[in-house]
Amino acid sequence: MTRHDTLPPVNTLTAGPDWNWCNRFHALGAEFHTELPPQPLPAPHWVAHSDSCAELLGLPADWQTRADLNALAVFSGNALWPGMRPLASVYSGHQFGVWAGQLGDGRALSLGEIDTPSGPQELQLKGAGMTPYSRMGDGRAVLRSSIREFLCSEAMHGLGIPTTRALCITGSPMPVLREALETAAVVTRVAPSFIRFGHFEHFAQQRDTDTLRRLADFVIEHHYPDCRDKPQPYVALLSAVAQRTAELMAQWQAVGFCHGVMNTDNMSILGLTLDYGPFGFLDGHDPDHICNHTDRQGRYAYASQPNVGFWNLHALAQGLMPLIGHDNGDAALEVLEAYKQIYANAMRRRLRLKCGLATARKEDASLIELLMKQMAHEQTDHTILFRRLSTFSTAAGADNRLVMGLFHDSAFRERWSSAYTERLCAESSDDGQRAAAMNRVNPSVVLRNHLAESAIRQAQAGDFSEVQRLLKVLENPFDEKHDTSADADFPPDWAQHIEVSCSS
Ligand code: AMP
Ligand code: MG
Repeated sequence: MTRHDTLPPVNTLTAGPDWNWCNRFHALGAEFHTELPPQPLPAPHWVAHSDSCAELLGLPADWQTRADLNALAVFSGNALWPGMRPLASVYSGHQFGVWAGQLGDGRALSLGEIDTPSGPQELQLKGAGMTPYSRMGDGRAVLRSSIREFLCSEAMHGLGIPTTRALCITGSPMPVLREALETAAVVTRVAPSFIRFGHFEHFAQQRDTDTLRRLADFVIEHHYPDCRDKPQPYVALLSAVAQRTAELMAQWQAVGFCHGVMNTDNMSILGLTLDYGPFGFLDGHDPDHICNHTDRQGRYAYASQPNVGFWNLHALAQGLMPLIGHDNGDAALEVLEAYKQIYANAMRRRLRLKCGLATARKEDASLIELLMKQMAHEQTDHTILFRRLSTFSTAAGADNRLVMGLFHDSAFRERWSSAYTERLCAESSDDGQRAAAMNRVNPSVVLRNHLAESAIRQAQAGDFSEVQRLLKVLENPFDEKHDTSADADFPPDWAQHIEVSCSS
């Protein structure tokens, strides 16, 4: 590892917040990580912060400005609070379907875990400098990608989708070279654990079964305690992770979220959305949409995500096989098979709710499929269609042009409107009640690329107010007050030309 900075080494401050550091992952053992301090970031400044994440951590209201805490120094990697045990963890993984060998936290640094009323939370700096796992990278993150990760983490939380959280971004004038010269930033991420499928693959590949078992037992003890007393705890663990992954995939599909880099090293063992890179939300409903400019084959296209989740679970199962034992291979396969049905059920349920159907009926599948097919055919805006669907009225002669006018095909409009009306009337659906329920599951605003892009451009010019404003909007994406705002509108023409790649 080479570190080129000439800044002074990081020192530990005399006081930090009133936190109890439990540092469970650190205590797991040296096989799992390398201890090292962050690499200092020159001339840091605040970019953005999440009050809601600060509240989760029990930080005092004035945490950013209190001189005794010096939070700016801590969250830019220039100082540590007492109790922090910074480390970079080692993992491996499959990238784009190919075994990539050892990866690890190449630019993320765990600061440790604290006890909170909602359980332990790990704090991690992303972009805090080189680690033994940096490979060819510089250990840094740029302001652009840090804003995207920060906003999307909190946006997903606002949508009720399991995700790592983000506390703050700090920035620096330090130049960082990507396709162009940009500036450095550090995002502080928060999650109960950042353990990935790739952690298991790593020790399985190394044929280090003892360490692999320690990892699995750690995850069971702290995150899946119900598995402990099952006849086959490691099969039960695989089953629980498959279940959470299936639910997560259904949530992504329902909201039109594309992750972009579903490599096994980016798959959370807790079923959280993890590692925001070239992600995107659908504008027009295009099943083949590829949000990652680098993914030329479309391996991680929108419609492929549930299958990739399934593929990734097989990689996890491979990683767990030394513990499960080949005699129990069939049990592992059964658990994996179950994923398909769990996903299908979860997706069906979410689509029913998105369409405001309170009960499940035989004819729902074809009604919903008809809608989705037309959306795909016409590339109807995913978010706006579902949001406006709540305005649909079953009253005789009702004017449903606000939503049905989103489709050009008049034959479809008539056919589907009458089928939908009939279906709603069959369960005596009340227009007002249904609209309220639908507006709790169909967001008005998602982090479309052009919204992030506007905030990024302003931030790059030194004005961070749009990042903070957008955060507030995304924290409450179902709020009806956004319905008439520009944030909820169709993307502007220039949005088509935004290209997002792995470069971050
Ligand atoms: P990703 O697919 O972006 O999650 O990253 C894949 C691997 O590359 C992980 O091990 C990252 O830690 C590492 N990585 C990505 N960008 C950098 C960077 N700028 N410096 C060092 N490591 C990086
Ligand atoms: Mg990653």
